[in-house]
Amino acid sequence: MNLPDGLPLVADGLHLWSPGHPGTWGFANCLLVTSGGDAALVDTPYDRPMTEALIAAARPLLAGATVGTIVNTHVNGDHTFGNGLFPGADIIATKASAEHLCREPSPAQMHFLTHGTPADEPLGWYAREHFGRYRYEGVDAVPPNITFSGRHDLRVGEIDVELIEVGPAHSAGDLIVHLPAQRVVCAGDVLFADDHPVHWDGPLARVAAACETVLALEPEVIVPGHGPLMSPEDVRQYAAYLRELAELIRVRHAAGVPAYEAAADILTTGFHDHLGLPERIVILTAVEYRHLDGGNGEPDLVALAGQAARWAYERRGPGAGTVPPSG
Ligand SMILES: [Zn+2]
Repeated sequence: MNLPDGLPLVADGLHLWSPGHPGTWGFANCLLVTSGGDAALVDTPYDRPMTEALIAAARPLLAGATVGTIVNTHVNGDHTFGNGLFPGADIIATKASAEHLCREPSPAQMHFLTHGTPADEPLGWYAREHFGRYRYEGVDAVPPNITFSGRHDLRVGEIDVELIEVGPAHSAGDLIVHLPAQRVVCAGDVLFADDHPVHWDGPLARVAAACETVLALEPEVIVPGHGPLMSPEDVRQYAAYLRELAELIRVRHAAGVPAYEAAADILTTGFHDHLGLPERIVILTAVEYRHLDGGNGEPDLVALAGQAARWAYERRGPGAGTVPPSG
């Protein structure tokens, strides 16, 4: 796996670990905050080798300091599975995130998904293609020990850090991290750059509202959950994408089109086809339909991924073209 060997400077005291490239799942951005011998890390990588690579790359910046605080923007594994490699650190997340941890596939379940499922069926094939590169053995999923609702402020050395709850949006308990003196917002998976986003909770209007909360803080630089740094204009365009997609879905729902067919139809129109991972539209549509149908029930992450896998498998899988389309 080709990982960065350094953390470029984003702003005074802020350095970014950004292993991602377009068309991938699981390579989340992590932001290191260092000041006055103190350090915090916003989100941790998906597996042990990647977290160890981050720690090695960050060592010159830490200059002997230890990471005393981990902030989890939400509790998807690609932002939290490295938590256990920072012994003694406080781990902060929203109360809603902690309460919905049970929804998250565990490291053992991810290992099974990528090794124990049939490789010639859509989900097993897709899991191997997109998650087979990660090493889930030896991951100890450490939950948050400090939780809050609404707003939580902390200081890292001389740096003020404001945690602002914006979920449910991408997940049940999203938070964004505002660094007012640096004019930086770290938005977690409210924002994706370069790829179609995935949002498990929704509806899309709530994700767009979270984008407005980011913009209202008047940042100069925004760190998305995945992909390169964004400008305020990038965030405005992303919010417009979300509203455009919500309308395309609403029209098809009103016409009685089943969710999977609605997503497939939106994809045939070439909707933002410069972005990677188009199959995520299948997930976004299923989640939006759940809200349009009354919004009850919890999102089943593996089942949703299975629907996206089906769409991708029909086009790119070993049996491409042989799976009959159905609802
Ligand atoms: Zn993520």
